[in-house]
Amino acid sequence: MQLIWLRSDLRVSDNTALAAAAKRGPTLAVWLISPGQWLAHDDAPCKVDFWLRSLRTLSQSLATLNIPLLVRQAEHWDDAPHVLLQLCREHNVQTLHMNEEYGIHEQRRDDAVRDQLSAVGIEVASYLDQLLFKPGSILTKTGGYFQVFSQFRKTCYERLHLALPRLIEPPAPQQALAIASDPIPESVAGFTPPPESLRELWPAGEQEAHRRLDDFVDEAIEDYQDQRDFPALPGTSQLSTYLAAGVISPRQCLHAALSHNLGEFDSGNKGVVTWVNELLWREFYKHILVGYPRVSRHRAFRLETEAVPWRKAPGDLEAWQQGRTGIPIIDAAMRQLLATGWMHNRLRMVVAMFLTKNLLIDWREGERFFMRHLIDGDLAANNGGWQWSASTGTDAVPYFRIFNPISQSQRFDSEGRFIRHWLPELAGLDNKAIHAPPSAGGLFATHHYPGPIVDLSSSRQRALSAFKDLPSKPQ
Ligand code: FAD
Repeated sequence: MQLIWLRSDLRVSDNTALAAAAKRGPTLAVWLISPGQWLAHDDAPCKVDFWLRSLRTLSQSLATLNIPLLVRQAEHWDDAPHVLLQLCREHNVQTLHMNEEYGIHEQRRDDAVRDQLSAVGIEVASYLDQLLFKPGSILTKTGGYFQVFSQFRKTCYERLHLALPRLIEPPAPQQALAIASDPIPESVAGFTPPPESLRELWPAGEQEAHRRLDDFVDEAIEDYQDQRDFPALPGTSQLSTYLAAGVISPRQCLHAALSHNLGEFDSGNKGVVTWVNELLWREFYKHILVGYPRVSRHRAFRLETEAVPWRKAPGDLEAWQQGRTGIPIIDAAMRQLLATGWMHNRLRMVVAMFLTKNLLIDWREGERFFMRHLIDGDLAANNGGWQWSASTGTDAVPYFRIFNPISQSQRFDSEGRFIRHWLPELAGLDNKAIHAPPSAGGLFATHHYPGPIVDLSSSRQRALSAFKDLPSKPQ
């Protein structure tokens, strides 16, 4: 018997480990429920709910191939070797197949599983699947990890010119096994299911992921470069949730984009080239995660920035978290996050910079809060985005380039459409006042909205001096 251990690869099509397992012989699939580990990793309840819903549709797809999907409990990943060994013994498994996952804990878990199973003669096979390039395979001439994205991308382009990663055929149906699939739980203790309104925004399943990809490629990819920064427009693919859970693969995304651009990824349509670029940022941050494991231990990439005198300001942090800072674009963005589990990329940068620069609050607070609420939460991309915005990361924004949230609002939501949607209390303001409303107590105020919790100009100066005085070398 072959066993595929499903993790962040919840699909049947273009699934490397699944195809390899099925090629070898009769196959079983398993998913581990690990609530203790998920809590330790700050996985958001809406993300866990998305996994469960995705597993439900996956179980149906696997059933058409006669592959039963079993569900086992391993509270923490430390329990995984024992749980999997028991399952392998029950079903006389010869080989366990898994698609690689990256991160310190993932690596430790997989090494322990490999050790325990190989000690009793069970083979363990792992595959590159979550990425186009295995972390550690795109390196500088001297064998180091790239720290600058444009140089990393150049090497990715060279590789893609040599060979595009191929799509993998889904397995053919196998002979039915006398093993029943387990029911997928409705919920997992410790993770309150999100409201239906959130679920409806993110329907589960490969079919939905492909519908999104096809629609995006047919209707929006050509204008991606021009529209992706405007949060009121449907200018981006909204595929991150599906990519993070592996409901769709980066190879599938890449091929769909290229088919729209005569096979080109670095020339031709600018929208396509820019979108492929974003897929390569995803690769870049996974490389950073593996090459510099300190970033997954909550350490700054640029060690000298550990000396930034971050403020302990629980009241300000809470106002930011709850979307009541008195700066409309920040509050609208945070409310989008709380209501949908997702935030537009431009706004992720704006709110992250506001927290780390204007409020001078440690980026780790923001990183954790995002992770606890994002349906697409991904350690590498989230950490990369936060450290970029906080100027503590690799190839990060220079510390003196601080976005002014009001100018960002005027530029990227000029008519206030996004703000009006999320802050209906400001809907009556004109297109100028909506970005910086007159204070609620003022003579002409027609709304109940707090005044700004911070002065943008003096807080900018405070951030500049906090960063300017840092030692230039790592300590
Ligand atoms: P599109 O614009 O359509 O891009 C296509 C895909 O490329 C995305 O689905 C995503 O997988 C990838 N991608 C795009 N931008 C980036 C990027 N900057 N870094 C890495 N991958 C990227 N992305 C996550 O997937 N999970 C996170 O937890 C996450 N946290 C972030 C935190 C901050 C502070 C910032 C600034 C960015 C973060 N991002 C994260 C990156 C980016 O904001 C989202 O990937 C994007 O908004 C998802 O929307 P989309 O699918 O419409 O993207």
